[in-house]
Amino acid sequence: MSFRIKKFFSYYKPYLGLFFSVIVCAVIAAAVTLIIPLCTRYITKNVLQGNMSNPLQQIYQVGALMIFLVIIQKACNFYYDYWGHVMGAMMENDMRKELFGHYQKLSFSFYDERKIGKLMSRITNDLLLLSELYHHGPEDYVVYLVKFIGAFVILIRINTKLALVVFAFLPIMAIYSLYFNKKINAAIKRNYEKIGDINAQVEDSLSGIRVVKSFANEELEIKKFAKQNNKFLESRKNIYRNEAFIYNGVDIFIHLITVTVVVFGGVCIVKATLDLADLITFLMYISSLIEPVQKLNHMTVQFQQGISGFQRFMDILEIEPDIKDMPNAIELEDVKGDVEFINVGFKYSKGQDYVLKNINLKVKAGEYIALVGYSGVGKTTLCSLLPRFYELTEGKILLDGIDIRKIKLDSLRKSIGVVQQDVYLFSGTVLENIRYGKPNATKEEVIEAAKKANAHEFIMDLPDGYYTDIGQRGIKLSGGQKQRLSIARVFLKNPPILIFDEATSALDNESEKIVQSSLEQLAKNRTTFVIAHRLSTIRNAERIIVLSDDGIEEEGNYEELMALNGKFARLYKTQLDSCHNI
Ligand code: ADP
Ligand code: MG
Repeated sequence: MSFRIKKFFSYYKPYLGLFFSVIVCAVIAAAVTLIIPLCTRYITKNVLQGNMSNPLQQIYQVGALMIFLVIIQKACNFYYDYWGHVMGAMMENDMRKELFGHYQKLSFSFYDERKIGKLMSRITNDLLLLSELYHHGPEDYVVYLVKFIGAFVILIRINTKLALVVFAFLPIMAIYSLYFNKKINAAIKRNYEKIGDINAQVEDSLSGIRVVKSFANEELEIKKFAKQNNKFLESRKNIYRNEAFIYNGVDIFIHLITVTVVVFGGVCIVKATLDLADLITFLMYISSLIEPVQKLNHMTVQFQQGISGFQRFMDILEIEPDIKDMPNAIELEDVKGDVEFINVGFKYSKGQDYVLKNINLKVKAGEYIALVGYSGVGKTTLCSLLPRFYELTEGKILLDGIDIRKIKLDSLRKSIGVVQQDVYLFSGTVLENIRYGKPNATKEEVIEAAKKANAHEFIMDLPDGYYTDIGQRGIKLSGGQKQRLSIARVFLKNPPILIFDEATSALDNESEKIVQSSLEQLAKNRTTFVIAHRLSTIRNAERIIVLSDDGIEEEGNYEELMALNGKFARLYKTQLDSCHNI
């Protein structure tokens, strides 16, 4: 906990100078607010008592002083308003950078369990609330403290009795507003959960909009959404009800105090224990006195929201990336591509069953290996262990004889190229997307990679060639074209090891042939793991590995496995019966 408190304040560090100047300006502005009624009092008191030698000149002088004070006050207000907010925004900027950097470090298993919508709101809404607290928090406390203590001292000195009457109201007012404030806080918290639910629901429904439409389930989605939306409305109503109680209740107190001062002060004037100038002064200070109590609830809401935003921020920041470099991890150079799985066992999380068990597999550099087995047996999982997307539960994997856990992640992942069924293209141009495989590649290198991936021709047919923005409306690439871009990316990356995970499964026959030939080009002289449904892809494999629930069940080349007449032969026969898929 104390770590979090330290961390909370650490974000002020780069801006300490700015922070203090903001606070000084806020104090000056608050002090001036207290001095101005004193000027009024000076004029009214002296005019009423008629004890000025040169009244007009003095009135003008005090008037000029008041204008001067207002100018100072507004200049200070301007400074702390602008620079205070900018400071908050800069701190928010730092935190956002830190959180985004942390997001980049977290592993697959972190993202398996979380909704992107929620992670987005951590980095936007939560930090926004926090920057408000960073800026307004200290400044508000200082301003209201100065105003409250100042008004208190001044009023006591003018008329102690009347001052005590006014103060008697304040605790009641504070208790009243804190009571409703507590209710508002609870309602706001619920409200946040509800808006989170709405976000998640929208994300879910819009990400799956194609599925929604294909099942013609728009009505169902609308109903699901309406349910969340109404819950949100209810929680907002709750907030507004309590807010109405607070604002109107506090308003009643203000009127009560004013009436009391007027009545009680009037009586004192009649009894000649107070003069009119003092009564006017009293009325002018009431707002300075009440404002802090009035803002008490606003400040606690702001504090609570900011703090819970910070807690959520820290909750994520404190998650250690479960996959990271060991202290003396080594950099790989000239990777050959020998891979060995030794007694590998894996489960996704502690409570779950093993997905893979007893996997022993030795692959020579440059070998072309096909992995087959029924859907869900763990082919994708096996391949994602090699780049350490997930950490092994048991056993070890060696790359060129070195345990992959001892290799720097960066250098391990640079040696492995993955081509999957789903291609993710970033918004931006074709050129940028291919260059993703090697950020410092020249345009010539990109074009060469595209040519090798059979992508150059269709790219040249796009409206702006390599500079076509893929995210733009109207630019639609087919599955096969996207796949070829992703292959070009890997050509550019030029890794010694490849993983093709059902890279052609989603394609029609025609595109499959083109993509297949690009893949074969790519696979030359590299260690390649192919997961494929289609027999054509695996027939040429030097070795076929048949996975089952208990590990590797059969292995050998196509002829050997057919001769064995075991599981592979059965899979192959069913494929002949169905549409050529294993
Ligand atoms: P295959 O690629 O052979 O079809 P997978 O490797 O994708 O199979 O999945 C193997 C098993 O692991 C399946 O039972 C699947 O439900 C489970 N699984 C896959 N991914 C995850 C994940 N991210 N978290 C938990 N379980 C998973
Ligand atoms: Mg799979």
